[in-house]
Amino acid sequence: MKTPIALLGATGPVGQKVISLLENHPRFEVVELVASDSRIGKNFGETVHWKDEQPLSDRIALLKMKSTSELNSKYIISALPSEIATEVELQLIEKGHIVSSNAASFRMKSDIPLLIPEINPQHLALVDEQKTKGRLITNPNCSTVFLTSAIRPLMDLGQIEHINVVTMQALSGAGYPGVSSYDLLGNIIPHINGEEDKIQEETKRILGEPHKPADFSLTVHVNRVPVVHGHTIVAHIRFKDHISLEKAEHSFKVWKDKWPNFYELHNTKDRPQPARDLHSQDMRVHIGRLKQGGDRQTIGLIALGHNLVRGAAGAAIANLETLNKYLGEL
Ligand code: NAP
Repeated sequence: MKTPIALLGATGPVGQKVISLLENHPRFEVVELVASDSRIGKNFGETVHWKDEQPLSDRIALLKMKSTSELNSKYIISALPSEIATEVELQLIEKGHIVSSNAASFRMKSDIPLLIPEINPQHLALVDEQKTKGRLITNPNCSTVFLTSAIRPLMDLGQIEHINVVTMQALSGAGYPGVSSYDLLGNIIPHINGEEDKIQEETKRILGEPHKPADFSLTVHVNRVPVVHGHTIVAHIRFKDHISLEKAEHSFKVWKDKWPNFYELHNTKDRPQPARDLHSQDMRVHIGRLKQGGDRQTIGLIALGHNLVRGAAGAAIANLETLNKYLGEL
């Protein structure tokens, strides 16, 4: 018997990726789907504009779209826009549901974990501070997850003072239909609403203690680029003291040994690349171009990951698995 899952925001790119990733999941099965009210009562297969690379199964295609008030499943994955999630997710946890959310609404709330299980598992215990009947857990912004995962191994080497970040974010990060092709084809847009603040705040929260953000500073600049899937992040990490490239390389090898399916380390000068190194269900954080920065205190690198998978849908699934184990319910 698999655990039934309800999915909110099922028709968006993140919702579709949740369906694909859970298709052969050993313990979870999607059984209820929710999107905008206009779709209630329709078969999912008739109403969705299916874009995911994996084919839609007949079982999912035949599920009737529901409203949130009709849901029976205790476990919920939310891929709702933040402005909707703020009200809906709160109602659901008040009623006793366990929600794993992709939305930004509650990521900075002190009793709600902003979790990457491999990076900050100690934050999970924050769910014990929640006063609601149900529980809520969130995954980070789709660039923050790759940035924090790239920084964490380096934190073992010394005190970080400042991180300079430039992102190149894919089209699918803007939802569907997202940015118009007229605006983005052959172009780079050097701005994404609210994104730089999210990366700054979430990075410090994740890499700090549950109630104490990390005390380094960040400078963040984001770009939307004409790549379909995959966010690439360039980071320069400046330490208080001298850090050698050899020590940085060694630390990544230690973390790769600890999490072999999470870190992918690239040694070739022109990798990682979104078009060559990511696949449609890629849960890895790709690290490459590790180098000494402009001075002896700075390390430079590139981090790449699939924004819809490890940056969203796969992260919410991993968080739900982790939370359920923690609550002793699986
Ligand atoms: P999206 O393309 O905007 O899809 C949003 C989904 O929510 C659709 O299924 C939509 O249904 C549904 N929805 C909208 N209004 C609703 C309402 N009032 N009631 C019920 N359902 C409603 O967004 P997305 O890119 O899939 O992202 C989903 C969430 O994940 C967002 O919070 C986003 O910020 C976050 N996120 C996205 C990424 C990414 O790479 N795309 C990464 C990390 C986090 P209809 O189709 O019927 O309108």
